[in-house]
Amino acid sequence: MIAATDSRAIEMRLVLLGAPGSGKGTQAAILAERLGVPAVSTGAMLREAVANGSALGRRVEAVMSAGELVDDETMAEVVRERLSRSDAGPGFVLDGYPRTRGQADTLSGILSDQGCELDAVIHIEVPEQELVARALARKRADDQEPVIRQRLAVYRNRTQPLIDYYQRRSELREVDGYQTIEEVAAAIQSALEVKA
Ligand code: AMP
Repeated sequence: MIAATDSRAIEMRLVLLGAPGSGKGTQAAILAERLGVPAVSTGAMLREAVANGSALGRRVEAVMSAGELVDDETMAEVVRERLSRSDAGPGFVLDGYPRTRGQADTLSGILSDQGCELDAVIHIEVPEQELVARALARKRADDQEPVIRQRLAVYRNRTQPLIDYYQRRSELREVDGYQTIEEVAAAIQSALEVKA
């Protein structure tokens, strides 16, 4: 099993791709803990900025509550700064970034500036009906049904194309997300072990 020892992280730079409600946040946290690297959730970072009323938070609040994407330039600043912190030196599990082709290019630029590259992109696949049911059960501020549907549409139009993009680059690992949390975590582990 891939797991960090007490003092040493496993060097891995990973992206989790999946629709809202696919469980990628939960899986990113589990995986990051096992590897000993930070889980970097752009959604959580933006929600925190909104809660703190920072300049960033004020800039993104309306866009987020409409279920739309924050612009690529703003996200590039947020992610570049986060990945330059020392805890992300050995690696990271990105949750919620990249979400557009432009963001995928930005990420590869940030990593090549650091002299490294992505190890794998994990796609967690869940049927749409289940995604809506899960999101409704979760009741987050941006989880009202019309907003959920909007976020799913944005995912299909803007983020789904990244699956092909990463597949062409042979970085993609597909995982069935329509299972228990433990089963999905195990499937991610074996997807990483088999091809890592
Ligand atoms: P999440 O928790 O990942 O579903 O993100 C919640 C919201 O934050 C999204 O609906 C977007 O409004 C915004 N957001 C998070 N990550 C990104 C990103 N990479 N690009 C643009 N907007 C983002």
